[in-house]
Amino acid sequence: MEVPTLDLKKQYEQIQDELDGALNSVLEDTDFVLGDAVGKFEDSFARYCDVEHAVGTNSGTSALHLIYHALNIGEGDEVITSPFTFIATVEPLLHLGASVVFSDIDPETFTLDPQKVEENITDRTKAIVAVHLYGQPADMDALRTIANEHNLILIEDAAQAHGATWNGKPVGGLGDVGAFSFYPGKNLGAFGDAGAVTTNDEELAEEIRALRNHGRKGKYSHSQLGYNERMDGFQGAVLEKKLPYLDRWNQGRRENASYYNQALSMLPVKTPEVDPRAEHVYHQYVLRVEQRERLLKQLQQAEIGAGVHYPIPLHLQESLTSLGYGVGDFPKSEKAAKEVLSIPIFSLLTQKQKVYVIETMDNLLQKQHTGTVSSVSA
Ligand SMILES: *Cc1c(COP(=O)(O)O)cnc(C)c1O
Repeated sequence: MEVPTLDLKKQYEQIQDELDGALNSVLEDTDFVLGDAVGKFEDSFARYCDVEHAVGTNSGTSALHLIYHALNIGEGDEVITSPFTFIATVEPLLHLGASVVFSDIDPETFTLDPQKVEENITDRTKAIVAVHLYGQPADMDALRTIANEHNLILIEDAAQAHGATWNGKPVGGLGDVGAFSFYPGKNLGAFGDAGAVTTNDEELAEEIRALRNHGRKGKYSHSQLGYNERMDGFQGAVLEKKLPYLDRWNQGRRENASYYNQALSMLPVKTPEVDPRAEHVYHQYVLRVEQRERLLKQLQQAEIGAGVHYPIPLHLQESLTSLGYGVGDFPKSEKAAKEVLSIPIFSLLTQKQKVYVIETMDNLLQKQHTGTVSSVSA
């Protein structure tokens, strides 16, 4: 049996008529960049995130970039974030000339440890970027308190957490501004690259609307230099049709997670911890295991789409050596990078597939336990 990491085709087939209709209407209207479909989705997504404004962009990376630029983050500014995230969280900061200051994670939730954040604050700190990794919100109570006390901007990288909540409030509206990605594999995925910024700050939203579209004020009138980081019409139309299904899909992920949690409780793996204030949306279902590389290889041989998010923490990436960090600087992140293992969690997994994943894990880990290792036959 094969258990893919993700089955986008199956999701498409489930609502094919709606999606095809949405794509056709964009063809008929020829609103290929921004336009009505994007505007409609922006309104729906703002409502979904319980914020005043959502601004569609051409990727999650662009959403972060536009946020950082609009907030005037650049040379001389320090921004604190986690080294245990996807590189896009920090890339635009470095392109803008800002200094990235990493701060280690809480090993239970894989998100920023607020106490460490506080220790890293200096006179030059301008913002904190909280990453809601794997679909679980960071500790937004503690981070909000710290940000207020030190007069810092609190930014959410919610690229993996569409629909997750903290104290019952959706991510994207918990900080001063939030960034989402609709890369096809995310919990809410477009048919290509897309992203959005969410905020209650009207001035910031207007600034980002201008920046994404060449700093445009009116036709051929540019009050400042901007970028081409707009959302396409097709993406807006697809996302508008998919959004009503998001809660159902997230619920499916949670049900799969609780099945796994229970089934794996007797095995030598650590299942995910969820803060009682958080509602996790399981963009990834991540275990900690010793001898991760061996298990990963065996699962892949058994045709199970297991993966590692992420094998190299950012402070040890070749492209970021100029930051001057080295091995041992963030021990919690380094340990996580060695131990984490993601197994398929998408909502349309079948019962048979889930059983196969568990039986395979059971088989491999029991054998590992008693010292005789062999791969299972599929
Ligand atoms: C996916 C992702 C991004 C970037 O989004 P793109 O749409 O791929 O540009 C940023 N941050 C995190 C944590 C992500 O997972």
